[in-house]
Amino acid sequence: MSRDARVVVLGHVDHGKSTLIGRLLHDTGELPPARIAEIVASSRRRGLQTEWSFALDALQDERDQAVTIDTTRVWFRLGERRFVIIDAPGHEEFLANAMTGASDADAAILVVDADRGVEDQTRRHIYLLGLLSIAHVIVAVNKIDSVAEPERILAAGAAARTALEAVGVTVTATVPVSARDGDNVATRSARTPWYDGPALAELLADIVPRHETAAREPLRIWVQDVYRRGDERVVAGIVSAGRIVVGDLLRVSPSGKTARVAALRAWPHDAQSAGPGDYVGVVFDSPVYVDRGDLLSHDHDLPVTVRSLQLRACWFDREPPHVHETVRLRAGSADVSARIVGILEATDPRTLAPAEHGAASRGMVYSLALRTAVPLALDQDERCAIARQGLPVAAAHAVKLQPQGANVFASSHLVNATARAHRNGHRGLVFWLTGLPGAGKTTIAMRVERELFRRGYQVYALDGDTLRTGLTSDVDFSEEGRSENIRRVAEVGKLLADAGTVALISLVSPAAADRARARAIVGEPFRVAYVAASVATCEARDPKNLYKRARAGEIVGFTGVDAPYDVPEEPDLVLDTERYDVEATVAAAVEYVADAVRITASPASISRSV
Ligand code: GDP
Repeated sequence: MSRDARVVVLGHVDHGKSTLIGRLLHDTGELPPARIAEIVASSRRRGLQTEWSFALDALQDERDQAVTIDTTRVWFRLGERRFVIIDAPGHEEFLANAMTGASDADAAILVVDADRGVEDQTRRHIYLLGLLSIAHVIVAVNKIDSVAEPERILAAGAAARTALEAVGVTVTATVPVSARDGDNVATRSARTPWYDGPALAELLADIVPRHETAAREPLRIWVQDVYRRGDERVVAGIVSAGRIVVGDLLRVSPSGKTARVAALRAWPHDAQSAGPGDYVGVVFDSPVYVDRGDLLSHDHDLPVTVRSLQLRACWFDREPPHVHETVRLRAGSADVSARIVGILEATDPRTLAPAEHGAASRGMVYSLALRTAVPLALDQDERCAIARQGLPVAAAHAVKLQPQGANVFASSHLVNATARAHRNGHRGLVFWLTGLPGAGKTTIAMRVERELFRRGYQVYALDGDTLRTGLTSDVDFSEEGRSENIRRVAEVGKLLADAGTVALISLVSPAAADRARARAIVGEPFRVAYVAASVATCEARDPKNLYKRARAGEIVGFTGVDAPYDVPEEPDLVLDTERYDVEATVAAAVEYVADAVRITASPASISRSV
């Protein structure tokens, strides 16, 4: 797969960007003779030496006349490789594109006038380069024909290099050039005996674009979707880096579960392996819970799972970020709720001055500390977007990741799960009852608790509403609040199940994503029972008069009335309270749970169960 290498050319106005681009096009044979004649003639008419920047003006005219031609880019070829120069008209568009990855550049050329050295705009562009992660940055010290002393040329290059290194950019090479005369552009110049390095074109020819090295990087597949095909669950995503091969052991982050790749579904034939840019449909050899936004990797090169992270964000919105504000953070296919917990720095890249408090925020660069509502897996420098009310307001990248639990050390038990299960005669479990208000979740849970207890099980029923009076009393009923409530309840369920108890949790939990998260938190010992009844039935029952109040407008966002309920697509058990009476649904639930917690490994030890 051979794609263009992307090059961006930056520098202070008049330092010779356009001339250098024009010269590169000419010297690499991209300009047809007629165009060259035109350039020479129009330069002469104006009493100038040949102005190679006119090559771009001609393209500019074309762009003005034919809006369909995408001439914000120009192409040239060096050997086998085609290069595209990405025009960077305004720093805002450039930064936005670059930070979202829309125009990831493989290389940048910073043009510095040999005589004038680093000037204002050069400094701003250096700052921008520091925000990006462009693998190859070349400093082209231009107009060497007009400066007699090599020392001054070297000093201009050294100053640019020092400034770049100060913002964390590694300079690949510094090359003295004359864009006007062509010295060290396509070929090495005889006029610079004090420079023994390659010409600019040679430096460019050495660049290996990221998409070609991506196959050697650690495997990353962002999960886009999970769908069923017959009996199979296919996990769909695009390989963004690395290679995946059938038989590989993959880890799903952030849940941390592992499974082996049984097949790679592709069209028209299944694949044995896949690499960067390929769409894959992964089929695992064992059931593993995977959802959109998860990141697949190999076990030996994991992404970082975080709740706290720092981002550098280029802000497009007029309204600046606010501390305590809740936003959406999008990275790869993940889209999670996050709170801005700190604004560490605000810089105006146009002036490099710290942004004034309350100043307009469009185009500002902020360093933000965020805390996500749920764990998020990503890599250092990951490109992200920040959204408000569904609209992106900033392009960002992750500059500091605080691994989850980095400062928390879980103590390891001296009693293990097997020992607990043997003592209890059964394993621990989270039995999650979801359904509309009034469907019968709590009624069933309480009776199942009584029956299992009677049979000698360690069992405890947790009611979502009861928890709201204590553990989750600080959480509201907004979408965010509900998610947080569910997260905490799931964490409690996990502890109970770890302790060997059967936790019966009744919670409306209307969003499929929240239930999926609960499953991810708890892990294997998690079963969902869908307590099914229609809205009409639940409303007719209305044990707590809540439907009546919701219809009267006293409760806003009531599930079933004016807030949605996602019916579980693949519940482990359906308890239909419309068709069956309580005794029947309770009996079914008891049998199901007893079966799920049975110790299968050594039948001899289950004497105390059922
Ligand atoms: P840009 O604003 O960075 O695109 O700069 P231009 O390419 O338009 O060049 C600005 C001016 O510098 C023009 O008058 C060019 O002729 C001149 N210039 C560009 N490169 C050279 C060079 O190598 N030597 C000399 N002497 N002048 C140059």
